[in-house]
Amino acid sequence: MKTKNGKTHSWPKEMIAEVILWGGNILTMDSRKPQAQAVAIKGGWFLKVGRDVEIKALAGGKTKTIALKGRTVTPGFIDAHQHLSQVGTNLLQIDCNPKLCKSITHIQRVVQKEAERKPPGEWIRGVGYDDTKTNDQRILNRWDLDEVSPDHPVFIQHVSGHWGVTNSKGLQAGGVDEDSPDPKGGAYGRDPQTEKLNGILYEQAEFAYIFEGMTGHPPIIPPFSLQDRIKGLRIACDQYLAAGITSVNDALVSAMTLDTYQEVWKNRELRLRVYMLITYEYLPHLQALRLKTGFGDEWLKIGGIKIIADGAIAGRTAFLSAPYVGTQKKGILVAESAEALHASILRGHQAGFQVCVHANGDRAIEMTLDGFEKALSQYPRKDHRHRLEHCTVVNREILKRMKKLKLLAVPFGSYIHHHGEKMIPHYGRERVEMMFAHRSFLDYGIPVSGSSDNPCGPYEPLLGIQSCVTRKSATGEVLGAKQRTSVDEAIYLYTMASAYASFEEHLKGSITPGKVADLVVLGEDPRRVNPDEIKDIPVEMTMVGGRIEYRKA
Ligand SMILES: [Zn+2]
Repeated sequence: MKTKNGKTHSWPKEMIAEVILWGGNILTMDSRKPQAQAVAIKGGWFLKVGRDVEIKALAGGKTKTIALKGRTVTPGFIDAHQHLSQVGTNLLQIDCNPKLCKSITHIQRVVQKEAERKPPGEWIRGVGYDDTKTNDQRILNRWDLDEVSPDHPVFIQHVSGHWGVTNSKGLQAGGVDEDSPDPKGGAYGRDPQTEKLNGILYEQAEFAYIFEGMTGHPPIIPPFSLQDRIKGLRIACDQYLAAGITSVNDALVSAMTLDTYQEVWKNRELRLRVYMLITYEYLPHLQALRLKTGFGDEWLKIGGIKIIADGAIAGRTAFLSAPYVGTQKKGILVAESAEALHASILRGHQAGFQVCVHANGDRAIEMTLDGFEKALSQYPRKDHRHRLEHCTVVNREILKRMKKLKLLAVPFGSYIHHHGEKMIPHYGRERVEMMFAHRSFLDYGIPVSGSSDNPCGPYEPLLGIQSCVTRKSATGEVLGAKQRTSVDEAIYLYTMASAYASFEEHLKGSITPGKVADLVVLGEDPRRVNPDEIKDIPVEMTMVGGRIEYRKA
């Protein structure tokens, strides 16, 4: 069979299935045949979908049959924007998530423990810190960390990923002192009273410490070894598979990350499919090699080029047109300037890449749209599928322009549930209610997909689906009821729509003959349970390429 992008895969010669799932409530997400009872699989691909009698007729002596007993099946979930590789290495660090570390004192305790264990001078790293959900009415600072770790450099990353806190040893390691000027697109936090460095590293200041390839220098904190990265990736894949995820778009891939993925892929140990958004700074190398979006196979692919325009929503660094509530601050433009952002977009576009711009605040989104407008009017391209990652704070004008430019939106799926009313003190209710505008994107005909931005948000697609459907926070507060989607629409976001975001709608996203056999068996039908309980539906089995990769114990 010849697929749209010109690839071929061997079509099974005989219509004898290797695996048959029957007696189920199969939601195919294929509008030509939305519901079915049974599905046949061969060679890792869906062979036929239909009624029990039709499908059972394809059974041979060696066919494995699975009785669904009325359970619901959907296509495997696809997360259009998250950071699988980072989730992997996060698992190797101290978990400072507020469920475990409820206060700064608690974080101090775990850092101290690490300091006692590790030789002096070695880095202590933590992740998942969320100041809006800890008991303190203030942010962790360098002095808190110095108290318990005078001899080890420490870095604790905020859950948004866009800032973190280091101690005095950490500042020293980065060559940062009281006279250091703020880097372009970032800032060194200072105590409001004394003006002294407080250890908070915002945006580019943080990227210099932890991200490879983004600042032109190796990261200040020595990266994890390949072995450790693979170890972390394995655990992360297990977690994702148990949540029904069969494909992801890794939204920030550096040379090291590519190395990790290639190694696992080469050994045929990649258990879910990865579409890689490559960090912009590598574009010259990709261009030199003439590599473009879509190169790879159905397991691992070079995806889009990733550009960062502004800061984060949860980190309160998104670049806004109106200031954060009670402040003069409008967030951080991470790109050096609007012109620099436009030039990056143009270069990615001209190089034949799908261009994926991280833009949260309305001001950053407008600048990004200006950039796309210029690039597309100078060099028109059909079916470019350029994307706005997150695309959080929108208005009518932005939506109209996106529609006109045929841009895709990849908003956070679970932030209403996860951050909910915690965002109101910073953004104001009105702004929060218009954020993560899945409904508006759908209504305007702007292609929109499902994403978690994990580790910044929870990865479970069922939680994301619930959040889109109910627009309720974890405490039950409704935020922006007008942005609700139906359950079917939300499932579509996390399947077909996310496949579209990576040019792979011919390959996956629905249970259709000729597509990869990726599916999830759910304990209940998300359309029939109380919407507040969608997240509690058990994932009973996850299949990738016809193989059972997860089965509930
Ligand atoms: Zn992200």
